[in-house]
Amino acid sequence: MIQVDTGVQHTLKERLKEIFGYSQFRGEQEAIINSIMGGNNTFVIMPTGAGKSLCYQLPAITTEGIAIVISPLIALMKNQVDQLNAFGINAQFLNSTLNKAEINKVKKDALDGTLKLLYIAPESLTKEENLDFLQRANISFVAVDEAHCISEWGHDFRPEYRRIRGIIDNINPDLPLIALTATATPKVQQDIVKNLRMEEAAMFKTSFNRKNLYYEIRPKLADVNKQLIKYIKNNKGKSGIIYCLSRKTVEEVANLLNVNDVKALPYHAGLDSSTRMHNQDAFLNEEADVIVATIAFGMGIDKPDVRFVIHYDAPKSLEGYYQETGRAGRDGLEGNCVMFYCIDDIQKLEKFNKDKSVTERDNARHLLNEMVAYANLGACRRRQLLSYFGEYMEKDCGFCDNCIKPTQRIRIQDEAVLVLKAIDQTDERFDGDHIADLITATDNIYVTSYEHNKLEMYGAGKYKDEEEGEEYGVEFWRSMIRQLVILGFLGKDPENFGVLKMTDKGKKYIKDPYPITISKDHTFDENENHKSNE
Ligand code: ADP
Ligand code: ZN
Repeated sequence: MIQVDTGVQHTLKERLKEIFGYSQFRGEQEAIINSIMGGNNTFVIMPTGAGKSLCYQLPAITTEGIAIVISPLIALMKNQVDQLNAFGINAQFLNSTLNKAEINKVKKDALDGTLKLLYIAPESLTKEENLDFLQRANISFVAVDEAHCISEWGHDFRPEYRRIRGIIDNINPDLPLIALTATATPKVQQDIVKNLRMEEAAMFKTSFNRKNLYYEIRPKLADVNKQLIKYIKNNKGKSGIIYCLSRKTVEEVANLLNVNDVKALPYHAGLDSSTRMHNQDAFLNEEADVIVATIAFGMGIDKPDVRFVIHYDAPKSLEGYYQETGRAGRDGLEGNCVMFYCIDDIQKLEKFNKDKSVTERDNARHLLNEMVAYANLGACRRRQLLSYFGEYMEKDCGFCDNCIKPTQRIRIQDEAVLVLKAIDQTDERFDGDHIADLITATDNIYVTSYEHNKLEMYGAGKYKDEEEGEEYGVEFWRSMIRQLVILGFLGKDPENFGVLKMTDKGKKYIKDPYPITISKDHTFDENENHKSNE
């Protein structure tokens, strides 16, 4: 147990009111706080805005000693420290922006025991002189914020994050840990647990479903600017964010809107900090309706009534997409998420990866492929997104573009059995592309080297649909396999990227199949009238 600080035992709820002025805990906050205060390793996966910070801030304040908060971004750290100080709590940070005297002051406060929360960047954590100081401090627990930075498979890998466990071991291996993240696919989750050695941790995962958000993808054609202006005019006076890939596009789109009488301001890292601050404030105070931004915008921004988020360019990953669209409709009311998508933009993103290391490039490509599949698949968007984050939805949502305007539906049964059998008989060790190649007898050295060309299902899917007169090509099978995952007949192996596993539902299906309906893919990638900006 962690030592409780006060002489009188206050209930947690009283402390919540007293310190933060909130009268209720949100969701599982109280259970999470009890878990870490009970000295248990605790793993929290909750979407952005759910209130994760409070889960370590409140216990840090109400227990003896200092809580160490490891956080990847200096701006984020500063934000939180400012907020806590405003509540009258002694929180400080230790990072590369401080001078010697400031560092000494922080350390003194920490050793005096007046400091309650110490925010620290992983780079600072690994410094020799800080290690010595941390060993002398009275630490209550360690919070690892943005824990997905640990995983190479995440969208924001930070090598320094992988050293955290070793350093904690050097300070005190028994310190309770709380890891928090808003984006963890099952694979990333597993990586975090392993790397921090938190196998026994109490898990708190809330649903990623944002019911009030409407997801829509439109082909990005030559008339994209016209569409954009029309969209914004139809939503006149509402607050919205438009995400673009480059600073240049941000400026162009902001200008375009301005000349069309829309109050829009740009935001990107190339602007000086006073302009950035000014534009952000103008958006928050509703002097500007629209902010046109790179992904530099949004961290720590808590505007509840953003009514739409537009992706003018496709994001690099579904993690990014989820986070950025998640800034719409925080108040639970209307939130529209529109992405303009074309394959040229994807190819441009691929080019950015050219100079990366092999592992980084592979990972970036995987993340991007998932994005492309999401854009193209005709299945319910919400089911796709939630499936990506390891959540299963029983039914289509009825509130996304694919639900409202379905693509052509296809009834399958034997085809599904064929896929499931192929996965079963290859011992659940391969990904969807391999299985699709196997079924269609597509040239692939791996299929032959594993002697999968000797299996009965080799080439068994290469036939024509009699009604349509169309051949079921490899793309058809890939799409179908993805949909079988979303429908719960298959799962993904958290240990190996893309490797498919049978679920109980899938095993039962082979023995007792029934007709199921899947959706035809969109034909966005075949459209030749793309609009791609530089
Ligand atoms: P996350 O880290 O999960 O993205 P934050 O910790 O930034 O979310 O919290 C989002 C917002 O919710 C903040 O403005 C925070 O003050 C507020 N908040 C957190 N917990 C509560 C609560 N129990 N009652 C009311 N507001 C809360
Ligand atoms: Zn849907």
